[in-house]
Amino acid sequence: MKNLVIFGAPGSGKGTQSDLLVKRYGFKHISTGDVLRGEIKNGTELGKTAKNYIDNGQLIPDSLMIDILASTYDSLCPCDGVIFDGFPRTIPQAEALKKMLADRNTEVSAMLELDVPKEELISRLINRGKTSGRADDNEETIQKRLTVYKNQTSPLIDWYTSEGICHSVKGIGSLEEIEAALCKVIDEL
Ligand code: ATP
Repeated sequence: MKNLVIFGAPGSGKGTQSDLLVKRYGFKHISTGDVLRGEIKNGTELGKTAKNYIDNGQLIPDSLMIDILASTYDSLCPCDGVIFDGFPRTIPQAEALKKMLADRNTEVSAMLELDVPKEELISRLINRGKTSGRADDNEETIQKRLTVYKNQTSPLIDWYTSEGICHSVKGIGSLEEIEAALCKVIDEL
């Protein structure tokens, strides 16, 4: 079984590329952002808590996210493979994922980083906000999310590099080109 972490800044295209990889390989897709938006839509207690953080461009606390991740994973697996999209976002989350998978006799096979310049991220997110209606895709919240990414999430690039499984892929160009670059890494695993 393959456990793949798709990684990148907000707007880097993690969700879009995950959908393409799910179609191609039949992997399960865990998007923590989608899980949280589902909870908000259903008006659950978790959704109410999450909304305050998301609308402020902040991360949901690690302990809560780690529980959500484990229960989502166990509801989908055992299976052939999983794409983790939006998790981990902090070093404690990466450590928890490593432990959770080890407890289930498996591991992260690769971390796939989508590398996209900051100006491109901002323009993509502003455009997405116009059509998606996502409350966090406005200019002020986008800036906060990019700062959170830089401070709390991007250190994971070094963390996964020291694990020996960080693969960086250029996240600009056509969707097909980016998908091909990701597939090349996956097929070589
Ligand atoms: P993309 O543009 O690549 O789809 P994104 O970063 O814009 O990614 P989501 O991954 O959908 O959007 O996440 C939306 C929000 O949900 C985050 O800004 C954060 O508040 C919250 N969130 C999602 N995953 C996590 C996580 N692992 N830990 C903490 N908060 C999270």
